[in-house]
Formats: sequence, C-alpha cells, structure tokens
Amino acid sequence: MYNYDDYKKAEKMIIFPLEEVGDAIENGKLDLGTENAHVKNHCDKVLEHRPKFFNRSEVVSGYEFWFNEHGRVYVPQTEKNFNAFIDNIFQMKGNYSQFQVDNYNLIRQYPFLLPVNRFDGGLNLSGDFIYEFQYTELDDLPKGWRNSFVKDLLKELKKELEKHHLLYCYRILQLKEKFGGLRWYDFSNTENGYAIIEKYANISQHTCVNCGAEGKMRNRSWIIPLCDDCETQPSVKLNLYER
Ligand SMILES: [Zn+2]
Repeated sequence: MYNYDDYKKAEKMIIFPLEEVGDAIENGKLDLGTENAHVKNHCDKVLEHRPKFFNRSEVVSGYEFWFNEHGRVYVPQTEKNFNAFIDNIFQMKGNYSQFQVDNYNLIRQYPFLLPVNRFDGGLNLSGDFIYEFQYTELDDLPKGWRNSFVKDLLKELKKELEKHHLLYCYRILQLKEKFGGLRWYDFSNTENGYAIIEKYANISQHTCVNCGAEGKMRNRSWIIPLCDDCETQPSVKLNLYER
C-alpha cells in the first residue's frame, strides 16, 4: 500500500526553491540518489491508484477532477486516463493561441512535459494560477537546443521510458542551460535513460543556443555555445527563450 508518511516527508522538499535544488545536486550537497529511489518507489506504488491525499472531487463538464489540500488536481498515470485528463482540461477553455495548441500536442506526445508539482504530481487548476497550456517544461531551454538535438532526446527518452512502463510517472525536476551545457534533472529515470541524457548534454556543449547549428563555447557576459554567425550578433539580439 501507498505510504502516506513517506509522501509527507518528500513533500517537505517543496520548500526548496528549484534553483537551489539544482545547485545543491550539482555541488553534491543533496543526495538525489536517495530521493530518486524514493520517488521511483512512489511511482511504482501509485501507478494505477489515485493517492488518498487527492481526496476532494469536483465534476467539471462531466469529468471528475480530484483535488488535494493545495488545490492541485491529480494527474492520472496511465496512458488512457492521462490522455482523457489532458483532453478534458484542453476542452474546458476555447480560444487558444497557436502556441497553446502546440503545447497541448507536445504534452500529448510527451506527458512528462506537463508542468506538474515536483512531489505530488498535481496540476494547478484552481487559485491564482490556472494551467492553460501557457508553457511546458521545455520552455526553460534555449531555442537553439529546443529546435535541434532536444527533439531527438525526447524521442529516445520516451522510447526508453515506455520500455520500462515509466512514461506516465517519469517527472522533470528542472531543465536549464548552465555554464553552456544542458542540465536535465529528473525523477524515475532508468540507467539507460540517464545515459541518453548524458549523450545529449555532451552534444549541447557544441550546439549553438541561438540557432542549433554546430558551435563552440564563447565568453559573452556568460559562457554559452554559439555558432560563428550568431557570435557576430550582439547579446541583446540573442533572444534565447522566445518560442
Ligand atoms: Zn547560431
């Protein structure tokens, strides 16, 4: 059975701002190995069952959502139920911009790009912030990477996760560029999955963050890989996080 006390322990981690968690992992101050094992364990146990802390239900447009005490809703962790859930929240609101439709399609293809809470896996559908496909986890990566090797990374990672039945419980902790290289922090990955990420982290170091072409490390106000063409552009012209 699912261990609620273990969950409460993990939930305390929410107090760490994500940037600090990433830095703590990198500096060896946070033993993510243990956390990983914990969440993997959690993942196995709740795969088919809604955890009991999502205990308040509300029916919206004929679909039953389950909320926890933080106002987040439970995101199902099986293919059929996850897709039904995503389709329902997508249909709740019309008049999407094209980028929101693109985000919906991306999440349908890669469920782990849905920005859920790091520890309870819930999605904000109430309160001050309501998720309406405004962004995905990928938005934290520079566009040159998003438009080049990241597409291959996603395909390979998905295949690996599917092989181990982890696709619908695998979670992103944080994605970012740091010191010119890809940082991809996650939960519930496999050994081979980590090897895939390492392979692309190496590729990132010589891939232009602006256009995705072959590049090398440049010392701007910070260190980033740029191709020869983009290197001639002033930093203000490099809008790395535009869609
Ligand atoms: Zn470039």
